[in-house]
Amino acid sequence: MGLPLAINEVENRLYINGEFVPSSDGKTFTVKSPYSYEAVATVYEATENDTNRAVAAAKAAFPAWSALDPHERGAYLSRLATLVRDSHTELATLDALCMGRPVSSYFDAHYSANIYDHYAQAGFDAKGQTSLNTKGHMNFTLRQPIGVVGAIIPWNVPVVLFAHKVAPALAAGCTIVLKSSEKAPLSSLKLASLIHAAGFPPGTVNVLSGFGNPSGSMLSSHMDVRLINFTGSVATGRHVSAAAARSNLKKVILELGGKSPALIFEDADIEQASTETVMSMRLLSGQACIANSRIYVQKSVAPAFLAAFRAKFEDVKCGDPLDPATTQGPQADGIQFERINHYIALGNEAMGKTDAGAKQQQPPSTTNSRGNGNSKISGFFIPPTIFTSVPESAPSMRDEIFGPVVHINTFATEAEAVQKANDTEFGLYASVYTRDLDRAMRVARALESGTVGINCTSPTIAGDMPFGGYKGSGIGREGFGYSLDNYLETKSVLLRVRDE
Ligand code: NAD
Repeated sequence: MGLPLAINEVENRLYINGEFVPSSDGKTFTVKSPYSYEAVATVYEATENDTNRAVAAAKAAFPAWSALDPHERGAYLSRLATLVRDSHTELATLDALCMGRPVSSYFDAHYSANIYDHYAQAGFDAKGQTSLNTKGHMNFTLRQPIGVVGAIIPWNVPVVLFAHKVAPALAAGCTIVLKSSEKAPLSSLKLASLIHAAGFPPGTVNVLSGFGNPSGSMLSSHMDVRLINFTGSVATGRHVSAAAARSNLKKVILELGGKSPALIFEDADIEQASTETVMSMRLLSGQACIANSRIYVQKSVAPAFLAAFRAKFEDVKCGDPLDPATTQGPQADGIQFERINHYIALGNEAMGKTDAGAKQQQPPSTTNSRGNGNSKISGFFIPPTIFTSVPESAPSMRDEIFGPVVHINTFATEAEAVQKANDTEFGLYASVYTRDLDRAMRVARALESGTVGINCTSPTIAGDMPFGGYKGSGIGREGFGYSLDNYLETKSVLLRVRDE
């Protein structure tokens, strides 16, 4: 398909102190399409020196940026919102090229523009309290920006996560260094160019491309970074948290993975429950932290649910992510492809099956399918894969697979459903489908999860409700009304008032 942008004109440099610059040692890495296997772009990789320069720029920009009033900071965010909204096609194309995200379901530009618009007004919420409760005093608190923020994001929804980190930090008066994922750096670089066009003061936002090492780990351990806000896997989250503790005990926000359960009771609307759980698994080709990858169905309705789920889940059109007719793109890269296949093998093994179970995919063809007249489908595609009756203790049941692989098991009683749902170290999103309101409320209370959907499942989230994980799924909450607090310190000022 023809591209709606000139790929050789796409920004590939680092954005430091208001300028696009090559890396200090000139080192680059190549981003390849998981659909065509062709090189999409060669991107400069941030070195230690570059990361230090970005933090120094953010530190230098902090006094002036934090001294602006919320209206002034908000004006920059409003301009950015408009530019992001207007860049929908370009951002969708860049994410499709880098990690196979179908343009047909790309909501990220409009969604994140709304986030910038929200935070354009939100700076005024940074307010303290007063107290007359100490004799002879009129005491009060000040809410003040924490300082330089480090942000590290994954590849699966980079434009949305960029907004979730950058917008509240800036509204609070912080300055920021964001490192994008090595798998999808181009949309973040496009956002850097929009930040530049919006006229933000140099150093306020710095955008680095590169890997966990050295750039990500340096940000986590940098002595001048006061808060590290990380979204990614549990394994990397542990490194980030340890690095923060070992360095300056910076504040840590972690938004990590999930293995989210959906409980389908026998009185549920099976049609609705099957449609929505399929949608949850289909989002981003199963590469979503909130995917309901464990579904528990009450035994009496299990056959009906399974039939309805299978019919919808398997009805996909795999193809070029740039084709508006494509409903499932390839997995993000060969590493994801291998990892998912590995778990499919483990799922088969847990059921004692060798070749009768879910199919593992062959390594994909190396023939590219774009522009050379070859109609063969290439790409790291994993078709929708359903496991039933895998033991609860099996690795494929317990680990986050991050692909279109769902486990559907059964339960007899409410107590058993809740016990199985909670028998995990994750706790990001859980759902319950039932028409019994008392049961819905009992189960919602019992589920160990940051978000519970009653008769709905992911991707349903609400902007003004907190988002984050119980247990190993994270530390802290984000969302309108919650994120600003993450970036503010609270200072108690004790003011003695003399009697006349
Ligand atoms: P990842 O943990 O491999 O990488 C995330 C980021 O961390 C990347 O930018 C990477 O370069 C960087 N990184 C790697 N090693 C590092 C280190 N030692 N120190 C600092 N940074 C380092 O995750 P991924 O594969 O990019 O993303 C998938 C994961 O993200 C899944 O587990 C998914 O559930 C999770 N996720 C969570 C949410 C949420 O809101 N909870 C949202 C999206 C994705």
